[in-house]
Amino acid sequence: MYDNLLANVPTDLWIGGKWRKSSDNECFDVIDPATERTIASVASASVDDAKAAVDAAGDAFEAWAAKKPRERGEILRKAFELIMRDQERLAKLITIENGKALPDSRAEVAYAAEFFRWFAEEGVRNSGDMRIAPASGARILVHHKPAGVAVLVTPWNFPAAMATRKIGPALAAGCTVVLKPASETPLTMLALMPILEEAGVPAGVVNVIPSRRSGRVVDAMLHDMRVRVISFTGSTEVGRKLLHSAADNIIRPAMELGGNAPFIVFEDADIDAAIEGAMVAKMRNMGEACTAANRFYVHEKVHDAFAAKLKDKMGGLKMGNGLDDGVMLGPLVNAEGRDKVIELVDDAVQKGARILVGGKTPDGPGFFYPATVLTNVSDSATMLREEIFGPVASIQTFKTEDEVIKRANDTEYGLVAYLYTGDLKRGMRVSEKLDFGMIGLNRGLVSDPAAPFGGMKQSGIGREGAHEGLMEFLETQYISTNW
Ligand code: NAD
Repeated sequence: MYDNLLANVPTDLWIGGKWRKSSDNECFDVIDPATERTIASVASASVDDAKAAVDAAGDAFEAWAAKKPRERGEILRKAFELIMRDQERLAKLITIENGKALPDSRAEVAYAAEFFRWFAEEGVRNSGDMRIAPASGARILVHHKPAGVAVLVTPWNFPAAMATRKIGPALAAGCTVVLKPASETPLTMLALMPILEEAGVPAGVVNVIPSRRSGRVVDAMLHDMRVRVISFTGSTEVGRKLLHSAADNIIRPAMELGGNAPFIVFEDADIDAAIEGAMVAKMRNMGEACTAANRFYVHEKVHDAFAAKLKDKMGGLKMGNGLDDGVMLGPLVNAEGRDKVIELVDDAVQKGARILVGGKTPDGPGFFYPATVLTNVSDSATMLREEIFGPVASIQTFKTEDEVIKRANDTEYGLVAYLYTGDLKRGMRVSEKLDFGMIGLNRGLVSDPAAPFGGMKQSGIGREGAHEGLMEFLETQYISTNW
């Protein structure tokens, strides 16, 4: 199955509806993080290839933008159906290149496909309005035009969904795109291209250029006047660089960056529900998610009960190759990611944290790290300020509502916060005081194609999903007239 699946996956660049090698024949290896085996050698786009991809997207733009919204919608709807037809194959591919367990990969494929269904429906609701100028009586007609060519840059943690969350609204809006997937996980998007072609996406509308030379390749595209949108998901550090590059040509940025999510459990919470939510918020994708709960604040009265239950649940997860039956915890994406988790846990333990479960790196091969629960974590532990990006829960206690709000907000990030309480009035009061773009109130999952996903502060600019996600790819124009 493994070799069969990989034998049919494309490994070249997809430009203008054709596969091609990179202009200088450069390639890079893709590794299976569960076995450390090289599974593919993928073409690495050069600056010339990036230019060719922008040429293709630029050439395809006029005709795609001129299509009726319904025609574009039908193609997106078809893409949703075809992805779901191929769900199992795509899920296995995600597991092989990213490491996540198959149930997580299946859920990701369904989530990824849903962005095409949602935007197939949302793209036909590109409405404007008419106003009357108060002084002159002139009519002000407001409408929204496709912005132009969009450059999309995505991370490795959700190889399918982070890309379709951008391709869906871009295509629905009438934009054409050049996508640069993460070098750790380029195969999923390459495998999607024949599916989009089958759905009826014309040549040049979507181009995919994996590259080991991300900095130069993306920078070159951001200095091409035909590019009007840069939509990026990844680390705050790289997002900041892209914002600098985008400034030169005043390219519209949409930035989905890092997070440092607090997970607050009040003394009146339903503890079993909080544990269920915690397992999703912490363990979806092995903790390799920008939305992952990074800091647990549990009221001192319920701390011991919560910690004991979380220890049992997390300790009960089967770790192994994500393709194997019953496995819920695959390897982390690479040695660097695994070593960072080891470092953060060591640092916390040195500063007084107690390991309730996990904390021991197994022998290789594979970049495995076990589900780990830490209590008595010191305020000075580095993991409270940085994304752990691994299956580690750090628990601290608190006494009062005001105190926990202050501690939760004490971060430069503002992506998502979770809170559990039996008192909805308190839930709403606290939610409004938390400086995060998204709040999970008695819920451990906020991601939904119908919701505006995005962060405040250094977690980003703009929103993906919902109507807001469509607006990122549209320019507002108004026509002033009289009759
Ligand atoms: P990363 O920033 O290292 O890489 C993201 C993408 O940018 C990759 O395609 C990479 O090749 C490319 N890249 C790297 N350097 C570049 C440069 N100089 N110029 C242009 N492109 C460059 O992030 P990652 O390690 O792939 O992903 C993890 C990060 O993504 C975490 O910080 C996580 O929180 C964040 N993330 C955020 C969201 C969100 O929606 N807010 C979702 C998923 C992941």
